[in-house]
Amino acid sequence: MIEENNINNEGLLIVSEDACKAVIDRDSAFTAVKNVFASMSRGDAYNFPVIREAIGYADALYGFKSGFDRAGKSLGLKSGGYWPGNAAKGLTNHQSTIFLFNPDNGKLRALVGGNYLTAVRTAAASAVSIAHLARKDSKVLGMVGAGHQSTFQLRAALEQRNFEKVIAWNKDADRLSILQEIAEELGIPFESVEREQLCAEADVIITITSAFEPLLMKEWIKPGTHIACMGTDTVGKQEVDAALIVSATVFTDEIAQSISIGEAQHAIKSGAITADAITTLGDVINGEHPGRSSDDEITLFDGTGVGLQDLAVASAAARLAVEKGQAQHISL
Ligand code: NAD
Repeated sequence: MIEENNINNEGLLIVSEDACKAVIDRDSAFTAVKNVFASMSRGDAYNFPVIREAIGYADALYGFKSGFDRAGKSLGLKSGGYWPGNAAKGLTNHQSTIFLFNPDNGKLRALVGGNYLTAVRTAAASAVSIAHLARKDSKVLGMVGAGHQSTFQLRAALEQRNFEKVIAWNKDADRLSILQEIAEELGIPFESVEREQLCAEADVIITITSAFEPLLMKEWIKPGTHIACMGTDTVGKQEVDAALIVSATVFTDEIAQSISIGEAQHAIKSGAITADAITTLGDVINGEHPGRSSDDEITLFDGTGVGLQDLAVASAAARLAVEKGQAQHISL
């Protein structure tokens, strides 16, 4: 039986991808992600260890991200992964579903489509980093990568500063048209550039690729730049020179992930830095760390993507979907 129902009633709530798109906008994702980073920094919310496996089929990476936010009472997991062949079939390479459980009795409370939410919560994370760490006078936004996530990243970042130009690089330059269309829609000049020029011009850089080798070198980055490294979320991936991690002031969503599966993993592995060199963005949000200390400082956000981000946006989606009549309810 399928019917509309209240999130607090027993039974299982279904929140479809379309319902998520209808109820979660960039502002609500930004607020949910900012609040959960703050909760993590206060010790109110914690992530469980991530499971991520190459399954030896379809080149897929599959796994679980999970956690519990005691303050927000969000308990659950995101199941899913990365299927690189999907785009050729007209599907999103990332496929995920979020499961929310009732923390009082362990019952499955909601099943929430995770594809759109993953994109908006990842874009919200870099946007929160820009809001707290980028120079206020940042004018040029540099995008590295033009895959599925990149358009969400671009739209969210453009709302954080008065950017006057977007420059971008992608391995396959033809894909840059998806970013150009957004810049043009918003009336912002767009230019396709080489990586070294991108670093010389950009005040804020977002990397959102699946690279396994450094794409941006330390000596290319100008003083005062803020870089949000968003693509590296697995052992072995890398988007920037490890020497940049050593010289920049590094912030992250979660230190345990940053040093193991994030961009900092390489500098940690070589012994060039230790985990205590890395600060959580939540500490900056909560005022425990001042964030950027000068206009010349290079700040780097290692956005690894935590399960609590997924639970935060999924909980908001479930609540709003019920309020707006966009949710379905089934009895298990
Ligand atoms: P996608 O497959 O749609 O796009 C991949 C992008 O990476 C393209 O721009 C492609 O040109 C580029 N790329 C691939 N290999 C490269 C290489 N060797 N050198 C340079 N560029 C290369 O993927 P997507 O959905 O846009 O996701 C991009 C990355 O972000 C993925 O690696 C994904 O795992 C990661 N991701 C991270 C988070 C997070 O929370 N941090 C969340 C979602 C996705």
